[in-house]
Amino acid sequence: MKITSIDSVVLRVPCPRPMALEFADHRMVAAFISTDAGLEGFGYTLAFGGGGAEAIQVYLETRLKPLLLGEDPRLVERLWEKMFRADRGIRRVGLAGYAVSALDIALWDLAGKAAGQPLYRMWGAATDRVEAYGSGGWARYSVDDIIAEARHYASFGCRYYKMKIHDPNPRENVKRVEAVRKALGDDIRLMVDVNQKLDVLSSIRQARMLEHLDLVWYEEPVLADDYAGCAEVARSIPIPVATGENHYTRFEFRELCERRAARYLMPDIGRANGFSETLRIGHLAAAHGLFVSPHVVHEISLQVAGALSNAFLVEFMSWAPADLFVEQPRCENGSFRIPDRPGHGMALTPDAVKKYRAP
Ligand SMILES: [Mg+2]
Repeated sequence: MKITSIDSVVLRVPCPRPMALEFADHRMVAAFISTDAGLEGFGYTLAFGGGGAEAIQVYLETRLKPLLLGEDPRLVERLWEKMFRADRGIRRVGLAGYAVSALDIALWDLAGKAAGQPLYRMWGAATDRVEAYGSGGWARYSVDDIIAEARHYASFGCRYYKMKIHDPNPRENVKRVEAVRKALGDDIRLMVDVNQKLDVLSSIRQARMLEHLDLVWYEEPVLADDYAGCAEVARSIPIPVATGENHYTRFEFRELCERRAARYLMPDIGRANGFSETLRIGHLAAAHGLFVSPHVVHEISLQVAGALSNAFLVEFMSWAPADLFVEQPRCENGSFRIPDRPGHGMALTPDAVKKYRAP
């Protein structure tokens, strides 16, 4: 089987409410790999809030695509190495990592379709069902918006909910989390997300003020670049730290592991160089006794989570309009059954590209 063509497109995907209170839209960079066998692979990465999508597409088209044309798409490991080691002056972090991800996801989709197997089964299947946490609670939401959103996720049976703590006043953040805790009751456990907005001392101070709330984790306490800072926060607070959505390679995650900078690692399949590298990160985490909780895009993260016995929850964030994908996984009793279709199981609707193509 040979790759005959690769097409890519940037989609402007409007955010559903209540996420629209914070972001008007996201950009999806989608790649379609065609073969002489008639099979097509679909991969994508999500540029959250839109940042960098155009550059991701240009790098994919001009530098990565030529490396794959004419190759057998089932040799994913070989092709991943070829992409990862090209352009020595551009590391596979940031935008280049997004571009490799979209193509790696499309290659695996093809490999799964060629084998007639869903990916999590090809990778060994630890489970066919993964528990999820509801996620949102952005800064621009009122407390009532947050509570309504948390209840929406609870209506799917989710036993966990994550909210942002972005107010510059740490006491205001405590008030918001306390209000949500009170409204939801003790059956739903909470996580909070700093999204890199604090420095080490402010982050430790903020976490200490939240200690009484039995939080599952405290996320991205400092800049993702600052491994030492993250490790210092992790050492200094009793709440387990989670991080990783802005780390890109197994080498970066190794740094997090060895520094004991987090208890939960959160690779984003669309950033961390695709399924291939995310699986390696998952196994690396296992060797350090750490959990993996993939960042957003739960519809495809499920395949990785189902293949790792140290996976803990996927992030259920309703980011996609109902008419973007042919079929979205449904959450029941707080869990998603992993799509059982060959490949990763996701496909765009026939009209999605026309309707959402970015101007
Ligand atoms: Mg986060």
